Amino acid sequence: MVTDGTWRNWAGNVTVTPARWQRPGSTAEIALAVQAAAADGLTVHAVGSGHSFTPIAVAPGVALDLSGWTGIVAADTRTGLVTVRSGTRLRELNADLDRLGLALANLGDIDVQTVAGAVSTGTHGTGAKLGGLATQIEALEMVLADGSVVACSELDRPDLFAAARVGLGALGIITEVTLRCVPSFTLAAQEGPEPVEDVIARFGELAAAHDHFEFYWIPNGRNALVKQNNRLPAGQQAAPLSAARRFYEYEVMENAAFGLLCRAGRRAPRIIPRLNRITSAALSRRSYSDHSHRVFTTPRRVRFVESEYAIPAATAPEVLDELRREVPKLADPVMFPVEVRVAAADDIWLSTASGRASAYIAIHQYRGLPYEAYFALFESIVAGVGGRPHWGKMHTLGADRLRELYPQFEAFGKIRNEIDPDGRFTNPYLDRVLGAPHGRRPAGPA
Ligand SMILES: Cc1cc2nc3c(=O)[nH]c(=O)nc-3n(C[C@H](O)[C@H](O)[C@H](O)COP(=O)(O)OP(=O)(O)OC[C@H]3O[C@@H](n4cnc5c(N)ncnc54)[C@H](O)[C@@H]3O)c2cc1C
Repeated sequence: MVTDGTWRNWAGNVTVTPARWQRPGSTAEIALAVQAAAADGLTVHAVGSGHSFTPIAVAPGVALDLSGWTGIVAADTRTGLVTVRSGTRLRELNADLDRLGLALANLGDIDVQTVAGAVSTGTHGTGAKLGGLATQIEALEMVLADGSVVACSELDRPDLFAAARVGLGALGIITEVTLRCVPSFTLAAQEGPEPVEDVIARFGELAAAHDHFEFYWIPNGRNALVKQNNRLPAGQQAAPLSAARRFYEYEVMENAAFGLLCRAGRRAPRIIPRLNRITSAALSRRSYSDHSHRVFTTPRRVRFVESEYAIPAATAPEVLDELRREVPKLADPVMFPVEVRVAAADDIWLSTASGRASAYIAIHQYRGLPYEAYFALFESIVAGVGGRPHWGKMHTLGADRLRELYPQFEAFGKIRNEIDPDGRFTNPYLDRVLGAPHGRRPAGPA
């Protein structure tokens, strides 16, 4: 969100007033904006929809607003290859793909991010046989620091492609993304409460048994809310929730009523464990089927802060057991559920699932409630199993530790130094997590 030139992220925990804003409407204008920033000695950064919790999108120099750079450029319904402008929001893309009889094979749980913003941080959904959004990229076009426009794919500049699919905004401005889409499909959703001990004990088996498996555990509660989404065979009729039920489930229960509980908990934190037990006991069952993107994504109106780590999938039960033991001992109670998802290993250098089948554990706290001790506890637990933080979600790691966690960390740095030696695309967060590029002093605290 931008007010009087000041940019604020969705969670409200990051703000910046860029030296100037630009709203390019073509690849040529994006290239000109990068060249003009260089001429003025300014850094340049594209801002997406501001849904990262980390200061990754902070643009102290030139902020590029790509909201006028949207829509599908080319689509081949036979191969499923669709080229989209980088500022397109996932929601618009999903609607356009629907009309073409296509869909993304997997999505995260919201659809308001921009395509480039989502892939650049390694945004993912869940599915033991599927990777994050960036694994669905076939090719990229981007503007580099010298203003040149380059394309990359498995065949064309493969190293740049391996780096730039999850590029953190550090390598250039992505202008177009070619995605490998699949024919539209219907997902059958089954959701309901299960005792959390059972879900953790059967974690590997459940993740393997369903196309998309995830669960939420509310600290202090006994139950997990388990979500199992499976593809229906082509042609099978969908049985969606009625508009009224959808409104009740998503707007009333998951947003309005939950927001009310959160506000009550913030006013009187000592009642939070009781509220959590009540919410956990009140979890209900629902099953329905719908277009895939309507099952994957839901509105999120209650604001929170979040941290998420990818850990080796097999370590999830021990990490969750430790969290369950330790979280109730925290002085400040936790008002938001823990979310657990899975992804297949991939070959993208800085993808959080690079080279290993992963479980994602995401922790949240309602905005305005203390979260520091909780997030520090979580980080200390996942550190023991080589946890890698989501690039867009809060964490305290720096380049020294991240270098140990990513076998291709140096290769990424080498490419970055080659194509952006002056750090045109850096910001304080990128200096922290990647190190300052050659020839440039760190940009400041992050
Ligand atoms: C309510 C909520 C739900 C979420 N759910 C999920 C989830 O289910 N799964 C998950 O993995 N994450 C999730 N996230 C995190 C979110 O998907 C990521 O932080 C994502 O990066 C946000 O996209 P954005 O468009 O807001 O990008 P921003 O946060 O604005 O930017 C992210 C990065 O992308 C870069 N960037 C943007 N455009 C370009 C471009 N054209 N070229 C180069 N770099 C660019 C920015 O410079 C920045 O470095 C969620 C976040 C919120 C707030």
